[in-house]
Amino acid sequence: MIKIKLHNTLAREKQTFVPLDENNVRLYLCGPTVYDRAHLGNARNVIMFDILYRLLIKAYGKNSITYVRNFTDIDDKINNRSLETGRPIKDITSETIQWYMDDMAALGNLEPDLMPRATDFIPQMINYIERLIEEGFAYAEEGHVLFSVSKYKNYGRLSGRSIEDMIAGARVEVASYKRDPMDFVLWKPSEKNLPGWNSPWGRGRPGWHIECSAMAHDLLGANFDIHGGGNDLQFPHHENEIAQSCCAYPESEFARYWLHNEMLQVDGKKMSKSLGNFFTVRDLLDRGYSGEVIRFVFLSTHYSKPMDWNNSKALEAENILRKWRELIKNNSEKISLSEEVIKTLSDDLNTAGVITLLHNYANNGEIGKLKGAANFLGILTEEMGDWCEFYDMGFLEKLFMDFRKLAIENKNFENVDELRSKLTTAGVDVQIGKSNVVLVPNASFDLKKVDEIISFYGLNKV
Ligand code: AMP
Ligand code: ZN
Repeated sequence: MIKIKLHNTLAREKQTFVPLDENNVRLYLCGPTVYDRAHLGNARNVIMFDILYRLLIKAYGKNSITYVRNFTDIDDKINNRSLETGRPIKDITSETIQWYMDDMAALGNLEPDLMPRATDFIPQMINYIERLIEEGFAYAEEGHVLFSVSKYKNYGRLSGRSIEDMIAGARVEVASYKRDPMDFVLWKPSEKNLPGWNSPWGRGRPGWHIECSAMAHDLLGANFDIHGGGNDLQFPHHENEIAQSCCAYPESEFARYWLHNEMLQVDGKKMSKSLGNFFTVRDLLDRGYSGEVIRFVFLSTHYSKPMDWNNSKALEAENILRKWRELIKNNSEKISLSEEVIKTLSDDLNTAGVITLLHNYANNGEIGKLKGAANFLGILTEEMGDWCEFYDMGFLEKLFMDFRKLAIENKNFENVDELRSKLTTAGVDVQIGKSNVVLVPNASFDLKKVDEIISFYGLNKV
C-alpha cells in the first residue's frame, strides 16, 4: 500500500494519511462563488486537489474515491451582479459555472465526482439549522438565525487563534440580532427582489458557511477524510464549518485532515479581486499561454509556499515543455511510472520534487519514465499538447536546408542570411550542423513573428 503523508492544518504537522474506509475515501474542496471568471489564484487549490485526487486514485482505485467540489451559487456578489446588469441570477451562475469548468479543464484538471450547487441543497441546510437550534447551538432573531460561537469550546482550533485574535483580525459585525459579535449567520432574511426560500424563520437565504457543512454532510456523511481550500479560508469559513458540523452531529469529527494552500501573489501581494491585482485564467489562455504551461508553473512550487506568477517563469516552462515534447515525439520507449514518483508525491504532494525527477529522466534519456511521470501530473499528454504544434519547426528547418543547399550551389548566401536573421529576431536559435539544421526557440520566442515568417515565404504551418 502506498503510504501518503499530508500536512494536516488541524494537527500542524505532516501525518500519515489513514482513510476512514479504504473503499470509500472522501474529499471535499470549497469551490468558487460563481459570479465572475476565476482568477489565476483560484486555480491553485484546484490543481493541488487534482494532484491529491490522482494520487488517491492510484493508491485506492478510482471507484473508492469520492471527490466533491461545490459551487456557491447564492451570494450577495451574485445578487449585486444581477442588479447591476439586469440579468437573471440563474443566467449568471450557469454561465459562470460553465466558464469555470472549461477553464479548469484547460489547466488539465480532472473533474471531481460531484459538483453540487448550493441552491440544490436548501432543504438540507434548513434541516441542519433546525438541528442546531434544537441542540441549543443556534438562535433565531429578527428573521436571522445565528450560530452561538461561545457554545463551541473548540472554536479557533483549526486556525490556532484565540477568540480575542479573531475579533481583532476579522471584520466582526455588531448587529442588533446578534447576542455576541462573534456569532455568525446561518440564515438571513431576503428582501423581495432577492432570491429567497421559505423557512421556519420566514423567507430568506442561507449564510455561506452552512452551505459547505450541509453539502458535505449530505454527500460524504458526518465524518469524512480530507477537506481543503486556500489558507485564507481557514478562518472564518473552515472554523465555522467545523463548529456547525461538530455541534449538529456531536459524535462526529467532520473532516479529519485539512489541507490548505498558500496564496498566489502578484508583486508580493495576494492576487485578489478585491485588491484589483488579478487576471483571469481565461485572460492568460487568450493571451496565448497554454494550459499546460500554466499548470507546469503551478506544479513547480509546493502548494504550501507562496508563489508568484510572472512571464519569465512561463517562458521557461514553455521552453522546458517544448524540449520534453520534442524528446517524446518520436520515441517508442514503453511508458513507465517509477515508484520514486509516487513516493515523492506521497510526501505531502511534492510536485516540485517530481519536476526535478522529470529533468533527470530527460537528461538521462529515460523517455518512458519521463512520459509516465509527466502524464501522472497531467502534463505531456496528448490533450495538453495542442499549443506545441505551432512550435513544430520541421517545415522551417526544411526551408532553411533548401535555401542553404541553393546558397552553396550558387555561392550566394543572401537568402539564407535573411532567413536566419528573421528567425533570430523571432527568438529562434539556428544551430547549423553538417547535414542538418536545428531550430530551437529561446526565451525571446515570439509566435507572432514566426507566423509572419511563415506567411512571408508563403508556407503552410504543418
Ligand atoms: P474567492 O475567489 O475569494 O471566493 O476564493 C475561492 C477560492 O480561491 C478559495 O479556496 C480561496 O482560498 C482561493 N483563492 C483566492 N485567492 C487566491 C490566491 N491569490 N491564491 C490562491 N488561492 C486563492
Ligand atoms: Zn466551504
